[in-house]
Amino acid sequence: MNPSLPLVLELAWFVAALMLVFGLRRMSAPSRARSGLRLAAGGMTIAVATSLAHPDIGRNLLPMAFALVLGGGLAYLHARRPTTSAVAASIALYSGLGGGAAAAIATLSMLHVGERPEVLPALAVLGGLAGSISLAGSLTAALRLRRQSAGQRHFAQRQVAYLASGVSMLLLGVLLSASSAAHPVLVILFIALALTFGVLMVLPIAIADLPVAISIFNALSGLAVALDGQMLGNTLMLVAGTIVFAAGLLLTRLMARSANRPLGEIMYSGFGLATEERGEGHSAGDVSTIDAADAAVALAYARRVVIVPGYGMAISQAHHKLRELTQLLEERGVETGFAIHPVAGRMPGHMDVLLAEAGVPYERISDLAGINDQFPQVERVLLVGANDIVNPTARDDRDSPLHGLPVLDVDRSGGVIALKRGDGAGYSGVENPLFGAVGTRVLHGDARQSVQDLITALKELD
Ligand code: NAP
Repeated sequence: MNPSLPLVLELAWFVAALMLVFGLRRMSAPSRARSGLRLAAGGMTIAVATSLAHPDIGRNLLPMAFALVLGGGLAYLHARRPTTSAVAASIALYSGLGGGAAAAIATLSMLHVGERPEVLPALAVLGGLAGSISLAGSLTAALRLRRQSAGQRHFAQRQVAYLASGVSMLLLGVLLSASSAAHPVLVILFIALALTFGVLMVLPIAIADLPVAISIFNALSGLAVALDGQMLGNTLMLVAGTIVFAAGLLLTRLMARSANRPLGEIMYSGFGLATEERGEGHSAGDVSTIDAADAAVALAYARRVVIVPGYGMAISQAHHKLRELTQLLEERGVETGFAIHPVAGRMPGHMDVLLAEAGVPYERISDLAGINDQFPQVERVLLVGANDIVNPTARDDRDSPLHGLPVLDVDRSGGVIALKRGDGAGYSGVENPLFGAVGTRVLHGDARQSVQDLITALKELD
């Protein structure tokens, strides 16, 4: 405990840290995620409110209140109109700004290093490094995600620039850590190099892999906050930063595992150049189409139907309608269930959250490992805006850019009905032969409208 702080402030921070920990714990299951978010947000509100009572705040109270109102207001407006595709970019934006704030604190400490002998220069240097890389990397990733056309950049000498900025940044960092006097020019150069390094790190990563990079930058933001907390003797920053750091690392590992690719390959291989040459998809002539009436009959007379939701379900917000469809099918004695791929959609848990929101019971949802062996016994699979996660080339074609990604083996089922708008490719841009396969019929249209048409057609069946 820091003896210079009033006990009541320390206690409030302790309660806030507990609320954050238990809030995060609750977020591990979709059914408890909302209450977990509220608990963590409550903890953060206590932390911010009580921090304003810190004895050192004094004359900074007014600018802090202004920053709070401005930042809080902008975040409120931004979060009011979320689009599913923008979620990953928003996460990058918020976590990058967190890293930037931590980097700003560390930079100030570096600039005043001689004035406070109790501050260890190395902590400020490491905090500034992690926070700046996270800020630049996250913002670059967010920009690229928002403008999907701004793809990978492989400009000449990129590797040289990357290496040069990395090595000079490390050398300067060692120098600043060892010095007990302030060197403003070197500090600014050090931060500029770290920012450049963060940008160069993100440019060559394939769009589909950016969420993994964002997760790494999120962990770096947490590390920067924890280092600042240690430097300032602020327990709350230390606890919150360490949790974010650990959670970011775990999430990164989980995402890399789900894609079945080592982290190094994701960050440095320039995987999925096909993303650049997006739009291959499959030609409209390849596919056999079906109308809603025939598709409804095929579903209504099956014994078992498995629904595979993907990004298209999220973007069209078809989840509530899908729940209604399954209820109608069950009334007719059809066994229904959902199969969720770990990277379906655009963020971890994307499909779970939407299906939970629609009230789909958890016992009706299977994961990839739980369902894949059963597809040969499934009569009908209903694909709802899914593509990469069911691309059989990932399994069968060593030359496919998706090779190694575990996929849902829906092509081994009795037949597939795919809801999609046209001949659009998946996120990776890799062609998917499933849509032209003999057992597949495509029902064209926006997924929500198509599910509504299926509901109407089912109701008309005697
Ligand atoms: P996907 O590969 O992006 O395919 C989505 C399909 O939905 C497209 O073929 C598109 O075809 C269709 N679609 C789009 N809007 C639609 C609408 N309104 N109605 C009906 N269909 C619509 O999605 P996925 O199969 O879910 O795979 C996820 C991909 O995202 C993977 O490559 C994964 O690696 C990547 N990713 C995942 C995460 C994560 O954490 N979950 C993060 C980042 C990236 P049309 O254009 O023809 O309609």
